[in-house]
Amino acid sequence: MSTVWLLGGLCLLPTEAGHEVRRCDLAIDGPNIKAVVPAGDARPDPADEAIDASGNLIAPGFVNAHTHSPDNLIRGSAPNLPLELWSLHSAAGREGRSPRETYVAAMLGCIEMLRGGVTTVLDHIRFSPHPDPAGLDSIGAAYRDAGMRAVIAPVLADRAVVDTMPLDPADLPPKSDDAYGRGAMMPAAEQARLVDDFIQRWHGVEKRIYGAVGPSGPQRCSDELLQLAGDISLRRKVIWHSHVLETKVQREMARRLYGVSMIRHLSDLGVLSRRTNLVHMNWATPDDLDLVAASGAGIVHNPVSNARLGSSVCDLPGILARGIPVGLGTDSACCNDSNNLLETAKWAALTHNQSSPDPDTWVGPDRAMTLATRGGASVLGLGDTTGQIAPGLAADLVLFKIRSPAFAPLINPVQQIVLGAGSADISSVMVAGKFLMRDGRCTMIDESSIWAEAQELADRRLSANKSVYASAANLASATHAMYCRVHGLAYRKSHD
Ligand SMILES: [Zn+2]
Repeated sequence: MSTVWLLGGLCLLPTEAGHEVRRCDLAIDGPNIKAVVPAGDARPDPADEAIDASGNLIAPGFVNAHTHSPDNLIRGSAPNLPLELWSLHSAAGREGRSPRETYVAAMLGCIEMLRGGVTTVLDHIRFSPHPDPAGLDSIGAAYRDAGMRAVIAPVLADRAVVDTMPLDPADLPPKSDDAYGRGAMMPAAEQARLVDDFIQRWHGVEKRIYGAVGPSGPQRCSDELLQLAGDISLRRKVIWHSHVLETKVQREMARRLYGVSMIRHLSDLGVLSRRTNLVHMNWATPDDLDLVAASGAGIVHNPVSNARLGSSVCDLPGILARGIPVGLGTDSACCNDSNNLLETAKWAALTHNQSSPDPDTWVGPDRAMTLATRGGASVLGLGDTTGQIAPGLAADLVLFKIRSPAFAPLINPVQQIVLGAGSADISSVMVAGKFLMRDGRCTMIDESSIWAEAQELADRRLSANKSVYASAANLASATHAMYCRVHGLAYRKSHD
């Protein structure tokens, strides 16, 4: 097999504390980096491909550790509201999807993320009302076709929406239980079997697609389902990935359901381990974080989505100080409204400066770069596979153009990437040694035809699902009244 050489690029190499930037020659053999040597030391064979990368800053590929690709087809459809009210608007747009819609939605994300330098993604796939094997296969096919590295976590949930929030029954409109989805849920064991079968079919495909289990949130699952997911994670050695303590409403619901904190409950159930991903954790207490640190579980931080939904700000400095593994996620394109991980890294670097005047606690750009790359890889169980430019790891790389606005002039590459760069500054992206974007063009996906089809599918689905929107709106008053109660706000009907 011939070697591909990237010659003379300014490479972000890992150090214990962060990164150092050196001009290097990179040798890439098949899917992996074979050697990293000082620029000028490479001795390519005549059969090798030698590429002049002296005009590039080369970073490890970014890891988007939390998104939901089905929401790529409802980008822009939900108003500026808190999570619980936002959910009523967004949920209906996902109903009744065909496998083709699911495939196109995933492809939209692949195009956007590759253009933004993301080489690895965790896709938390929500099907309504329960996992759909054909839809799941179409997601696997999308990542196989696009060439990205992907962890696919089908969402599990077996509690009706009205039973997941501390609603006052007196606020609910007079409807039968069935109208709220009670009794319509697929049994926990059946859902677990579907997901287990999916993992059996797709885990390890092309050595870059991985299965996982994705309980939607503890308050949306029976304890039986949470534990069945834990059993799969243990038996298959896959990630257990769930939204946890995203909002104050969820913290209240945990108290009502469990009588103890949500984290204490997960610990008592035995599902906290180094394969556990706790997504958000905005309302975790210091005791919760101590429990998480002792368990080895990781946290995925989604600062842009948290701001968009007004969910609050997690204690990222406190989480990092405890040595808890952290990755970054964009969350869905319906609550972000993008899959732009560079933007998320900038928010992670800067948001927490506002919580403390002490710069020693600030996250900063170099730390944010670490979280956006090897931090995310480690949280997803891929720390030995990707996230760093180092021999033996996958050749998952982002080539920034030094001749672009973000780097003119070039003084501090890491800071300028995290705080100043965007997708327009990226020329090429490689995953597993293959260029998926080269000189600004996706090599594996026909972008124009996917964008055109997405518009058609979205128009058709949003109009077909009008009645589903109407039924979701039925719960708006009760949800809004509950939200106001939890937050001590006066209830006004303005958002119903
Ligand atoms: Zn999410």
